[in-house]
Amino acid sequence: MLSAAPRPCEAIASFAGAPAFQPMKVMPMSRRRQIYEGKAKILYEGPEPGTLIQYFKDDATAFNAQKKGTINGKGVINNRISEHVFTRLAHIGIPTHFIRRLNMREQLVRQVEIIPLEVVVRNVAAGSISKRLGIEEGEPLPHTLIEYYYKDDALNDPMVAEEHIACFGWANNEEMQDISSMAIRINDFMCGMFAAVGIRLIDFKLEFGRIWDGDYSRIILADEISPDGCRLWDMTSGEKLDKDRFRRDLGGEEEAYQEVARRLGLLQDDANPGEVFDLSAHRTKLRTGHKPKK
Ligand code: 5GP
Repeated sequence: MLSAAPRPCEAIASFAGAPAFQPMKVMPMSRRRQIYEGKAKILYEGPEPGTLIQYFKDDATAFNAQKKGTINGKGVINNRISEHVFTRLAHIGIPTHFIRRLNMREQLVRQVEIIPLEVVVRNVAAGSISKRLGIEEGEPLPHTLIEYYYKDDALNDPMVAEEHIACFGWANNEEMQDISSMAIRINDFMCGMFAAVGIRLIDFKLEFGRIWDGDYSRIILADEISPDGCRLWDMTSGEKLDKDRFRRDLGGEEEAYQEVARRLGLLQDDANPGEVFDLSAHRTKLRTGHKPKK
C-alpha cells in the first residue's frame, strides 16, 4: 500500500519500477564506497542510483556481539539461501529489496530507508520468549505471534509495543498493517517451504524498509532470510540447523547451514533433499568420505 509522507532527500531513488539491469561489470571491492558494515554483512554503493551491493561475511556474533566468531562459508550459503527465499517470496507477491545475486557473496538490492524494527515471528516457543515467560522450548504456541524489537545495539534491541512504534514515529499505522500482514504471509509460505524438506520453522526475524516514488512511499522486505535469523529444527530428530549451534556452542554450524541449503536444493550434492539429517553421520562422512554403517 502507498502512503504519503515527506520525502527525505537521500531517499530519492529513481524507482519508477526496477531499473533495467543489463549484464554489467561490478566495480572491484577496493574501489567501492562502503555505506555500512554490520555484524554479518557489508553494504556498498550499487552501480545504479537507488541500488546497493549486499556482501555476506562469514563473521558470526551473538548476544549483541559479546560472542564473536566465524562460520566458514556462511556468507556464501546465506547469500544463496536468501536469494532463494526472497525470489520465492516475490513469486507470491511479497515486494522485496532483492534484485539479483551477483556472485558467491554478493547480491544487488534496492536501497531502502530501513524501518528501525526487528520483526520476530514465532510459531513455537524458543529463545527469548521461553526465557522471558518460562515456556518450555519446543512448546507450540496457541497461535503465531509477531513481536517487535527496536533496533538499537546500545539498548540491546528492546522489545516494543505498537504504541511505542506509533508514538516515536518509527512506522505509521498503515505501514504497520503492511508489515504485519506481510510477516504472516511470509511465515505461512516459509513454514510450507521448510516443511517440504523436513524442517520445522520455529521462529525468525524480518526487517523491512521504505522506498520512495515521488512523495509516496511503500514498505518492502529487506535484509536477508537465512539460518542466521531463523530457528530451523529437523522435523524428525529436532536437531538445530541454525545459528543456535553457534550461540549455544553446539558445534557443527557449518554442516548445519550446508544441510539447510542442500535440502532446499541449492547445493550440488542434492541426491536426497528430504533425507532425515543425522549430524554425526554427516560429520563422519565429511571426515572419511564414507557414510557410517547404521
Ligand atoms: P529470540 O528473540 O528468541 O532471541 O530470537 C527470535 C528469532 O529472531 C530467532 O530466530 C533469532 O535468530 C532471530 N533474531 C533475533 N534477533 C536477531 C538479530 O539481532 N540478528 C539475527 N540474525 N537474528 C535475530
